[in-house]
Amino acid sequence: MSTSAPDTPLIAIVGNPNSGKTTLFNLLTGLKQKVANYPGVTVEKKIGECYSQHGKKLRLIDLPGAYSLNARSPDEAVLRDVLLGRRPETPRPDRVVCVIDSANLERNLYMVSQVLELGLPTILVLNMIDVAAQREWHIDAKRLSEELGVPVVQTNAVTGAGLIELKLTLSREDLAAPQWENAALPEGVRAALEHSRDELRQTGAIHTRSSLLEPLYLLSDHDPTHYGIADSQMARIHELRGRMEADFPGWEDALVAERYRRIEELCAKVLKRPDQEIETITTKLDRILLHPVLGFVNLLLVLGLLFFLIFKVAEGPMGWIETGFGALGSWVEGLMSPGDFRDLIVNGVVPGVGGVVIFLPQILILFFFIGIMEDTGYMSRLAFIMDWAMSKVGLNGKSFLPFLSSYACAIPGVMAARTIDSPKDRLITILIAPLASCSARLPVYSLLIGVLFPAGRVSAWVQAGIMLGLYALGTFGAFFFAWVFNKCVMKGSASPMILEMPAYKMPAIRSILLHVWQRARMFLVRAGTIILGISILIWAASTYPKTQGDTSAQQMEHSFAGRAGKFIEPAIAPLGYDWKIGIGLIGSFAAREVFNSTMGVVYAVESEDDDNLAPLRDKLAGERRPGGGLVYTPLVCISLLVFYVFAMQCVSTVAIVRRETGSWKWALFQLGYMTGTAYLLSLLIFQIGSALGF
Ligand code: GDP
Ligand code: MG
Repeated sequence: MSTSAPDTPLIAIVGNPNSGKTTLFNLLTGLKQKVANYPGVTVEKKIGECYSQHGKKLRLIDLPGAYSLNARSPDEAVLRDVLLGRRPETPRPDRVVCVIDSANLERNLYMVSQVLELGLPTILVLNMIDVAAQREWHIDAKRLSEELGVPVVQTNAVTGAGLIELKLTLSREDLAAPQWENAALPEGVRAALEHSRDELRQTGAIHTRSSLLEPLYLLSDHDPTHYGIADSQMARIHELRGRMEADFPGWEDALVAERYRRIEELCAKVLKRPDQEIETITTKLDRILLHPVLGFVNLLLVLGLLFFLIFKVAEGPMGWIETGFGALGSWVEGLMSPGDFRDLIVNGVVPGVGGVVIFLPQILILFFFIGIMEDTGYMSRLAFIMDWAMSKVGLNGKSFLPFLSSYACAIPGVMAARTIDSPKDRLITILIAPLASCSARLPVYSLLIGVLFPAGRVSAWVQAGIMLGLYALGTFGAFFFAWVFNKCVMKGSASPMILEMPAYKMPAIRSILLHVWQRARMFLVRAGTIILGISILIWAASTYPKTQGDTSAQQMEHSFAGRAGKFIEPAIAPLGYDWKIGIGLIGSFAAREVFNSTMGVVYAVESEDDDNLAPLRDKLAGERRPGGGLVYTPLVCISLLVFYVFAMQCVSTVAIVRRETGSWKWALFQLGYMTGTAYLLSLLIFQIGSALGF
């Protein structure tokens, strides 16, 4: 019963995580999107269009990956509900394309067997034939097709091999329902399911077909998010579930075992593999890269290289952007007649936006590098290497994946935590995710490291080392708090993990560059909208109210922003900060990189006209207290850096955490514990450092 228009069939792409669904989807639809190597990225609904061989339009939907239709997490529940036709916004697919990783045939066939039971016309895609071939596995596709009663196509989604045949098969209008027999249920179980079905249909919990699949999944799934089922009905379902378990103890496990038994039988007929496992490049590489010691050393080297590139390679382009903004400022200054509007542009917009945009090259390098690590398959190893550390704090590698994406930005990281089954693990992961140093911290770190160690005076390796240290500090903090929350705040047992180790491969540079470009655009749009807006606000707050006869510096001090800075100065003076840094801190609670914009605007507004176009780094380095001492002493820089490692300064993340945890409670708790830690640590550093005479 499909509600989609009869002339545009909806085709669902389903399969285990990392079987190549998204890559195939992109190939077929040409609709570009991100390709990542670890579970949890394809959470959102993605629909694209393509044309059949006869020029007929087809719609494709890229569904979340799963190992089984028995859902364990919300995104797996989406998959099950869409396939059962339960979600009103997504019509039930007319056909299914089951993508499987040929090099993991047996495990992948498990979900295939469940999908076949749905009775929808199905096409089986044996993807990753290249990996299977490397291992010298021979899969008899013809025999498999006969056994299952569905067409089987072999593909390599990276090279596009087999794509034409797949398109031809997709174009077939005579696809019949599969001939695979449903797994045999013991007679008693079957009768009980039928009974439940009839009852649930009367209460309205089941609307559709008469098959036993709906009651089967309702009574055996452990994820409570069944779409469109009221709480009252859910209560009854729990009762029925309890009765099933009492009457037929272990019936679910028996069903799983039955499925595997039949798959083994099937594999014996269609799969021939060498007596001895072939040594692939992947197994050889993994012997080093997953080694407990060597793997960790390698990880540090890789990250060290990343930060070296961020400082060394980005240096040139950053200089050009800096010069460009400086030139823009003086050009506008010469062009316009003096007045508030000119000040707004020269002292507000240009330094505010410029102070963030100059970090574009570093952001690009960061995302390019992350892209390479994801696409070669190294990112999944990172999760594996870190699994031991995660287990020490009561989490597992599955939590490390959302945490890893938080190094780019905490927002996708927090959302990726949806893939974690255990509610406790998920909450802890969300709580610690923003401690991963996100890319918005990069501009702040970079600026302050530049003040601390001017380029040229120390090598880029030293700067990279400090940066690595800051990242390590945030990571360590995240682990520490995960441990604390796990011990004291929340009880519950650790859940085991299944981590995918895809084969290593050459990175697809084009798709990485595309992703980097999307990121760059987002960064620039953000600079052109949010950062621009905040810069204008900060300029206005630092310029008004105007007082007659003051110098620029006095004017700044008496402005709204100046007064706000002065107001919080007593609270931050023990950390070593003056009121101007205070203005920066206030601004950066909207978003961290606003610190740079604010300082840019504050020093531009304050300076007398001739020197306001010098690079921000130099202005900071030269800034002096009323008494004559430097403001940005090494100790103050370190105290500030540590503050930015720990403080929760991002309005968007607070909003996402509220949405994902469903309450303000956790969002505010996070804001409090992170910022509190930042304050305490910076206080300790400055006070102890001062006492020691630094
Ligand atoms: P999904 O989780 O099923 O959507 O999988 P993706 O499409 O994101 O693919 C996971 C990884 O496998 C990506 O790095 C792809 O480039 C890679 N990949 C996809 N298909 C193939 C294939 O046929 N051969 C090889 N060697 N790699 C593939
Ligand atoms: Mg995908």
